[in-house]
Order: sequence, then structure tokens, then C-alpha cells
Amino acid sequence: MPFMLSKSQQSGILYVVATPIGNLEDITFRAIRTLKEVNLIAAEDTRHTAKLLSHYQIDTPAISCYEHNEESRIDLFIEKLSQGFDLALVSDAGTPLISDPGYKVIKAITDAGFKVIPIPGPCAAIAGLSVSALPTNSFIFVGFVSRKQGKRIAELKNLLQTLKYNQSTAIFYESPHRIVKLIEDILDVMGDRPAMVAREMTKHYEEYLRGNLSDILEKLQLRASIKGEFVLFVGSGSNIAMDKSVDKADTDILESLYDEIDKNIISELESSEIKTSSLAKALSHKYNLSRQDIYNRILSIQSK
Ligand code: SAM
Repeated sequence: MPFMLSKSQQSGILYVVATPIGNLEDITFRAIRTLKEVNLIAAEDTRHTAKLLSHYQIDTPAISCYEHNEESRIDLFIEKLSQGFDLALVSDAGTPLISDPGYKVIKAITDAGFKVIPIPGPCAAIAGLSVSALPTNSFIFVGFVSRKQGKRIAELKNLLQTLKYNQSTAIFYESPHRIVKLIEDILDVMGDRPAMVAREMTKHYEEYLRGNLSDILEKLQLRASIKGEFVLFVGSGSNIAMDKSVDKADTDILESLYDEIDKNIISELESSEIKTSSLAKALSHKYNLSRQDIYNRILSIQSK
């Protein structure tokens, strides 16, 4: 991009505005004010965003900016910003760029030296995570996996490698047509794990299914039809060393990791008055393992 901003110019700002994921009331005062005040709204689908704008009596003009035209919009946006006009970027739902278009625009506009400011708000991944009852201290946002089964399995195997040493909760977006297949594939590749499915969050038929992957799968398979928007949250499981897919070399690494943790626990218990819960917290942060697992190890060492 040849254009670079000179410091003397009064340039506009691009606001990245989060919008509701269902319930139109889930929008911040600042988002509404920003959408009213900017000169132009770049929307993933102008007809979809028109409903939100009309609900809040916002008459700012909107222009489309979606996956297949966002690159061609960059010059126009830079021209507007350089003329001092403010812009807002919105997607159909939630936070733009989160499994939504906008990355190319934001990259080009920040590279060109313009100010880009987020107006935070709903995001299906974060909303669901907050009620998942799964660990939230570390999570991996996977988003949509491939529709092609071979590639999807490869992606899941890759994820499994990452999760072996990092007990993060994994977050998947999926369509109603493929949610069952996705759960089946995760069960095959990663084994049965604690999970939650959030369906139609903030909407009339909102629903949360918690349990192991196999329980959730069974519940979904009993349904005559599966409709709505889904987010799947998969916990790391409480005993990764028992995971059927962890091979001998991995088990050895884990054993030596746990040996090191046990030594740490013994030395801390001998040398300080630290509370069990504080020690579990500190070590779970240090090794990125579940606090409950470490807590149980401390109790078992204390009882010896
Ligand atoms: N940018 C959005 C965000 O911040 O969450 C995500 C957009 S992505 C194209 C759409 C996917 O998000 C859906 O297929 C579904 O997986 C998830 N999603 C969006 N709204 C949802 C809702 N109300 N309930 C459950 N899942 C939702």
C-alpha cells in the first residue's frame, strides 16, 4: 500500500464495533453512539446490519465489506480516513474479525498509520466460555474447522498435540449441519472429554448442553432435527496421561514433568507455610496444568 499518513494531516479513525449475536439489546451505548457518529459503516452484509441500524434509529450510510470484496475496499477506506472521515467496521454478529471478515482491512489500515479502535461487545466464543463450567484460565479459539473430513481430522490431531502439554479449553464454531459430525470426529481423535455445547445464545431457543462429549452427542443424535447456531467447548480432561492417544514418548515426558512438579510441591511444603490452594494456583500457572490436578497431587503428597 503506497499511501502513508503524514503527521500534520487530521485523519479519521476506524472503529471496529461489536454488535449483538442474537438479542438486539446486547449492544453497548458506546457502540450505538459510534455507529451514529461515524461517516460510513462498512458492514459484512448491509441488509442484515440495516435491521440493527433501524432498530436504533441510526441513519449512517453503510457499504458492504465482506470476505470477497474487502481487499478492493481498502483504497476507498484509506481515502476516507485521510480526508478526516471516521468509519466503523461491523460484521453480521458479534466481534468483527472473529471468524468474520476484516483482517485484510485492519492490517492495511494500521500499516498505513491510521488509528484503529475497538468498541468491545458480544462474541459467541467468550459468552459461551463464561458459562461453560470448563477451565477458563487458558483457552484455544479454533473457530471453524475444515469441512473436508481428511483435513478436519488432521486439524484435530494437530490440536491434540498442542493440548497434550497445555490444558486449554478448545472453542469450536460449527454449523447445525456439521455439529454432530464434528463431535464424532473429536471423540475419535481426542477421546471423551468434558464439554459444553451452546446453542442459539441470547435468542429465544437458547440452550446449553453440558457433560462429556459422548453424552452431548447422544442428546443431539436423539433429536429429529438440529437447528440454530452452535459453539462447542471441549475441556482438556482431568488425566491427560491416560488419554488413549498419548504415546509412550509423550507419557515419559509427562511423567518427568509430574516428577518435577512433585519435587516443587515437596520443597515448598517443607520450606514454607504456603496454603495448599495458593500452591496449587501457583504451580498450575507455572506448568499450565489444571489447578484441580495439582491440588490433588499436593493432597496425596501431604497424606504420605
Ligand atoms: N464474529 C462472531 C463472534 O464474535 O462470535 C462469530 C461469527 S461466525 C461467522 C458465526 C458462528 O458463531 C456461528 O456459526 C456459531 O458457531 C457462532 N455463533 C454466533 N452467534 C451465536 C449464537 N447466538 N449462539 C451460538 N453460536 C453463535
